[in-house]
Amino acid sequence: MQKDLQRLLRDPNLILPEVQTLISNIASQATELNMPCYLVGGVVRDLLLNLPTHDSDIDFVFEGDAIKFGETLVNKYGGKLTHHYKFHTAIWHLPSTFNLQLETLDLITARKESYEHAGALPTVTPSNIEEDLRRRDFPINAMAIRMDGDHFGELLDPLNGEADLEKKLIRVLHDKSFLDDPTRIFRAIRYETRYSFNLEPSTLNLINAESLSVLSKLSGERIRNELDLILDEEKASQIILRVANLGLLSYIHKSIPEFKEDYSDFLDMDSRLDIPADRRTMGYMLWFIDLSEEEIFSICNRLDFSNELTLAVWSAAQLKWSLQHLTESKPSVWTYALEKLPLLSIYAVYLISRENSLLSYISIWRHVKAHTTGDDLKAQGLTPGPRFREILSALRTAWLDGVLTSKTEEEEMLKKLIAENQ
Ligand code: ATP
Repeated sequence: MQKDLQRLLRDPNLILPEVQTLISNIASQATELNMPCYLVGGVVRDLLLNLPTHDSDIDFVFEGDAIKFGETLVNKYGGKLTHHYKFHTAIWHLPSTFNLQLETLDLITARKESYEHAGALPTVTPSNIEEDLRRRDFPINAMAIRMDGDHFGELLDPLNGEADLEKKLIRVLHDKSFLDDPTRIFRAIRYETRYSFNLEPSTLNLINAESLSVLSKLSGERIRNELDLILDEEKASQIILRVANLGLLSYIHKSIPEFKEDYSDFLDMDSRLDIPADRRTMGYMLWFIDLSEEEIFSICNRLDFSNELTLAVWSAAQLKWSLQHLTESKPSVWTYALEKLPLLSIYAVYLISRENSLLSYISIWRHVKAHTTGDDLKAQGLTPGPRFREILSALRTAWLDGVLTSKTEEEEMLKKLIAENQ
């Protein structure tokens, strides 16, 4: 196994060469200081599954003081350190010399955790790697690879995660796991669907009235974080379906619907359009778009959405309802109605309805303006005031609706409008 892991750790298809350099610098610093140092969690799981690791999944644990260790890294390689003394962790803001997309790296002291009551956030105390692995969610996420000195490439797997990977199983570490932290229920379902694994039967049984009742008391922010992570996944709609089938949704909020299968392809945005892609916002809009205004506000409130996200979801629903009143309207009517709404909400409704006017607005109409500006009107001797806006808007309307087709026509129309004004 050790040889095999050494090979996987050096495979550029699994870990980018620049990331390998970062990892080996940290490992040699740990070797120099005689400090046991481990890669843990997702990176180990994905390496053993022969899957590429994302930079952001690189997690290091140290047996010893990770904060002091971080200080030696800053002295040697540069960058900056943020200390979290309470959690015995540090964040290393990497120097640009590493040339990575990754900007920060968490440095964690091996620790154990205790929960004061079900669903509470844990209290942590420094400990060793084995205890650190025991506080984790599932065996497949509770493996470590030692990186320092001669130990390079040694797998630590006290909870038999590798066997679960082979059997394709997601299993909790103890019966109270979901009561300690019900967000693990979402995590379990996320990994189950992502890797096409199965929940081990007794773990499945632990998703029951007792754990779901603890889940129902979690803060909106903690639940939203989990839903955000689900929406980031390639198989997001399948995960939500599984979450629904296991009866979780009603414990979050009585009105949360299933995610419509027909909408799932729309999560991946068309990058040719000039709209910044935002998979999470798009996901929530598609998920809640068929609900009533009251239900939407109530769910957004439960999930502690930002005002911006609430507005996006509400606007998408609002537009979908009012679509029938707008069809057959002139482009200017569409444009003035749509201008008040977030662009992403309009795009979501386009995807669902395939109403061409929405696409015309996104790609053409919203950019249409008259050639004449406020300065031109001033130069013509008009004093700024409400009439200013009326004239400019009359010109824009005429362009939008095809009444104007050239600059000369616009100049003639402008003359008439000014004459009417005098
Ligand atoms: P992903 O590919 O989903 O990002 P990951 O394993 O990197 O997977 P993180 O959410 O970054 O996931 O968590 C890192 C590690 O921390 C996990 O592998 C797991 O060992 C541990 N962990 C995360 N969340 C929990 C939790 N709620 N309870 C216990 N351990 C957790």
